[in-house]
Amino acid sequence: MDDEFQLQSGEEDRFDLLPANVPLLPLPEYCYSLETGKPFRFCIDCDEPLLLQKSEPLVPESPDNSHYALRMYGITKVIVGGEAVFELALCLRCNDRLVQRFSQESRAAIAEFIGSALHIPGPERIQSGDFSCFHCRRPKSSCHRYTIGMFCAGKHICANAPHVMICDACESEMAECLSKHTREEWDRFIEEHFDPTPGLGLDEPHRFPMII
Ligand SMILES: [Zn+2]
Ligand SMILES: [Zn+2]
Repeated sequence: MDDEFQLQSGEEDRFDLLPANVPLLPLPEYCYSLETGKPFRFCIDCDEPLLLQKSEPLVPESPDNSHYALRMYGITKVIVGGEAVFELALCLRCNDRLVQRFSQESRAAIAEFIGSALHIPGPERIQSGDFSCFHCRRPKSSCHRYTIGMFCAGKHICANAPHVMICDACESEMAECLSKHTREEWDRFIEEHFDPTPGLGLDEPHRFPMII
């Protein structure tokens, strides 16, 4: 496929490749890039390909060929009135690097806010995207604005990862726990990668799309 990239031998360490035992489901369309109508192809931060082509089996005894040479990445989307108004795909390495830029107290506050609320939805819900806010359980259908965060690998979605939806009210509540330093780091990251989009509200201090 012309939108996938061949993993060259010796490159395994360059990418965070999926362990062979992670169950996968076909990538639902709600995880596609709105811009292209297809799966995200590149990490927004390091610009490296997200879709690596199957090549040599990494684990020869793996029963499922789809696990070969897949790179894990996270998708974040902000949905308003049923439309994605903000979206990004980040490889795990860049995601970790971004989170490390946040203050220790903010990371602790996020962890405390999330607590044990995250759970892994069943395959049908992952496939349909029929989520509820992980914090207040409000269903997606009754939210005007919400954020989702998904773990994917190649043209698949990970079936054993906690996929997250958070409603606007809970996201604001969570954002209030964040330090000034963390907000500034997030603003800087957004400025580095996006043109300013008026009306999106991402410049408001309480708007903090959840990073997975
Ligand atoms: Zn990256
Ligand atoms: Zn909520």
